[in-house]
Amino acid sequence: MNAASNLPNLSPGSLATVYGNNLADAVHFVAPPAPGQSFPIAVAGVSVSVNAVNAPLTYVSATQINFQIPWEIPTGPAASVQVTNGGARSNIVTIPLAAAAPSAFLNNAATGIAWVTGSVQEGCPISQCAIQSGAIYQLWANGLGPKNLPEQDGVGDTATNMNDLSVRGGPGSCQLTIGGVSATVDYCGAAPGEIIDQVNFLYPLSISAAAPVEAALTVNGVTGQFLLPAPATSTQLAAQMLAQMTQAQKLHLLAGDGGPVNNWTPLPKNAGGWLSGIPELGIPDLYWASDSMGVTAQPATALPSTIASAATWDLELAYQWGSVIGAEAFTYGLNASTGGNTNLIGREPRDGRVFETSGEDPILAGKMAAQHIKAAQDHHVIGCVKHFAFNDQETGRTDSNVLISDRGGRESDLLAFEIAVKDSNAQSVMCSYNLLNGVYACENPYLLTQVLKQDWGFNGFVFTDWWALPSWGPASTTITAVNAGLDQEQPDNQFFNPDALSGAIASGQISQSRIDDMVSRILHAMYEVGLINQPPGFGSLYPALIASDEDIAQTVEEQGAVLLKNANGQLPLNPAQLKSIAVIGSHADIGVLSGGGSAQIYPTEGVALSEGYPAVPGWSQVIWDPSPPLPWIKAAAPGATVTYDPGTDPASAAALAAKADVAIVFVSQWASEGLDLPLLTFTDVIHAVPIDQDSLVSIVAAANPHTIVVMENGGAQVLPWLNSVNAVLEAWYPGIRGGQAIADILFGKVNPSGKLPITFPASVDQLPRPSIPGFVNIDYEFNTNYTEGLLVGYKWFDGMDYTPEFPFGFGLSYTTFQFSNVALKNNLSASNPNFQVTFDLANTGAVAGAEVAQVYLALPADGEPPKRLVGWQKVPLAPGQKQSVTIVVDQNDSSHPLSYWDTSAGNWVVGPGTYTVYVGNSSAMTALQAAGTFTIGK
Ligand code: BGC
Repeated sequence: MNAASNLPNLSPGSLATVYGNNLADAVHFVAPPAPGQSFPIAVAGVSVSVNAVNAPLTYVSATQINFQIPWEIPTGPAASVQVTNGGARSNIVTIPLAAAAPSAFLNNAATGIAWVTGSVQEGCPISQCAIQSGAIYQLWANGLGPKNLPEQDGVGDTATNMNDLSVRGGPGSCQLTIGGVSATVDYCGAAPGEIIDQVNFLYPLSISAAAPVEAALTVNGVTGQFLLPAPATSTQLAAQMLAQMTQAQKLHLLAGDGGPVNNWTPLPKNAGGWLSGIPELGIPDLYWASDSMGVTAQPATALPSTIASAATWDLELAYQWGSVIGAEAFTYGLNASTGGNTNLIGREPRDGRVFETSGEDPILAGKMAAQHIKAAQDHHVIGCVKHFAFNDQETGRTDSNVLISDRGGRESDLLAFEIAVKDSNAQSVMCSYNLLNGVYACENPYLLTQVLKQDWGFNGFVFTDWWALPSWGPASTTITAVNAGLDQEQPDNQFFNPDALSGAIASGQISQSRIDDMVSRILHAMYEVGLINQPPGFGSLYPALIASDEDIAQTVEEQGAVLLKNANGQLPLNPAQLKSIAVIGSHADIGVLSGGGSAQIYPTEGVALSEGYPAVPGWSQVIWDPSPPLPWIKAAAPGATVTYDPGTDPASAAALAAKADVAIVFVSQWASEGLDLPLLTFTDVIHAVPIDQDSLVSIVAAANPHTIVVMENGGAQVLPWLNSVNAVLEAWYPGIRGGQAIADILFGKVNPSGKLPITFPASVDQLPRPSIPGFVNIDYEFNTNYTEGLLVGYKWFDGMDYTPEFPFGFGLSYTTFQFSNVALKNNLSASNPNFQVTFDLANTGAVAGAEVAQVYLALPADGEPPKRLVGWQKVPLAPGQKQSVTIVVDQNDSSHPLSYWDTSAGNWVVGPGTYTVYVGNSSAMTALQAAGTFTIGK
């Protein structure tokens, strides 16, 4: 019997066991011999012979003897084993001997799991390791068969050359598969100095299993099977690592190494943030990508802005959008993200960062952001959700004290964050610059500890927005922030430096357990996204990656552009009927506009045009991506004369338009982190002498009754000229294939299917705050009072009975759709409570298209808006096709679709009363039909 794993297989050199009765007088442990000496062949008068050769003994007792099969015994079906005790001989047992009989020593005989040890770094050089995918381990093996240098019976191999100790044929003659995945074997041979064997292998990164994993080791054609431990959880790995860390190593992880305090700018790898690793523990450097919409600071795929992704209402496509960022960050060796802007921007549509967000609805924004983040983490990049929380305006962002009630916050901005964090398993959260109810977000125990960590069970770490711990703050900021739940300062260590932290620990103002918690959270994030043992990224983007990422960028733009108006069937354009097209404005001959700030992308294909730093106090350049619409329009209408006018002189543009069959006016609104827009009409914040694009449109429209406006902008706009133009396409900042995607939509190659993720107000007077608090940048604290509470975006418009210009969820198509047979099924008493809206959706027009069916719910609880979005599905349909659709709304979903936040209970509560369910294709009541009602607990 094989001594390693209770297997029958044996070979020469194997450690074996014979069981019996009266084999010896007592238990004799045999001490390992000195190097070069042999285990004895007789102990207390007991010996074991194999084919009459006395075998080395490692353990002797009355019922069991462990011995080594002598190397010189030939393989074959029947080797004879006999025990001699004094003069008495046992019966002879015959055993088969194979050339090799690979097996593994067990760590645990009851579970049958093999004994796997690791490095000193991992803290398990002898004992069983908590397995980490991608790390190298040693498997203690038996019966691997002959080695390159012949071995002596009972003698631990003393050769210093691993090649001598290796099985014949080297590692190539050993194949290890773990869970069906082939593992890299670095070494397969004798364990140096031992008479047992050893396999050094890399535990495959791709294995994620909760239960022990089946493994098979084949040596020179003979296979043995055993169980290997499943990869340990991130929590176990973090605990194992923490246990080995010195206090200095722990404190090192709690702040970035970049920034002026640490004197490290620019950072390695052009990263936005950096933290040097601890090589002696195998902890890698962390490089934060600035990557709200693609990796910044180095050439990257310029994706359509985040809001364009949200406007697709397509979760799978949102994942692909995030994959572009994840793949490119990974390729550059960046392994942590600062993206994931989930601020609920509907409160302040003039916010300069609307384009970075996923819109105004907490469920849509949270679900879309979760896909973006999940995709990044699947590329071994620590995902981020930011800016936590209520960073809904740029004006005075470090001084704005947001005032809002618990319920108002929980059902609006915080709900978006909750969904994003929970659905994505995001491993980091960036706290914001502003204050919440009198306390800085990064020092706010309500936000960081109560809501995020306790209520939502967030298991990653919280880090600051860049220098969000205010530099003018008191030294006690260190203590306040640590105790509030902040885990890491960025980008440097003004407050979370070893001196400040050690002093606070020594004085008892910060506990060691809190420090350990902070470190564990950071380690947990690294293990959870599997970045620790990743091989390095390629280093630069390569053509195949760029090509596939640009394809995704184009698809997102085609699916996310929103057709806002299409009077008289103006679109799609029919090239056969067009002799002349006037293209006007916004550098349509050169490129498409991008958004500025830390999210600014420098496209792989170069900057088409930089207009430098704008006239407004801005710190970001105005960059145009190299995807001009003009050549694509020309290509789509080869029989037409296509002329371009820059639009800087409205009279000349109008003269050109008057002579053309159609006029396509491109208007653009630059926006950036660091500034808000004073108005929602097109406002030139770039040029010292502003260009009035609104009057440009009006003048052109007066000259040509077939005027089409294409907008390149970040968010909601007010359109004073709307009635005078035939068609309006919201293209957002359309990214690296923007020109092509826009032309494809204008000419009907692509049927638009994007839906607004934000409400377009009819005027700023309809907003909760007609002007932005603190609008003249002031450097002292001021209040931003969110009296509207949870009534953000369409909920505000519904609650106030305002009619917006374009409602949330709105978007036209070149075809028509019809909802019929709408029915509601109530499963709320089931063990998995949900309700289901079922309907038939038909494409009643002549072209293929996709409709976003939206489900809204009116809750009976006091203080709720007239309705909230609770579910949706984007349904592609061929012309004439009708499909039955079911949208399931799960009460236990992270979005709490049936619940309101009960502040006194401190929980989500399903209130009693009647609930009304609506379905349709926008949030406007005119676009919805009632699917039915259900009543709870009345
Ligand atoms: C922005 C963050 C960004 C950080 C690093 C800050 O100014 O607010 O969104 O991640 O800079 O680039």
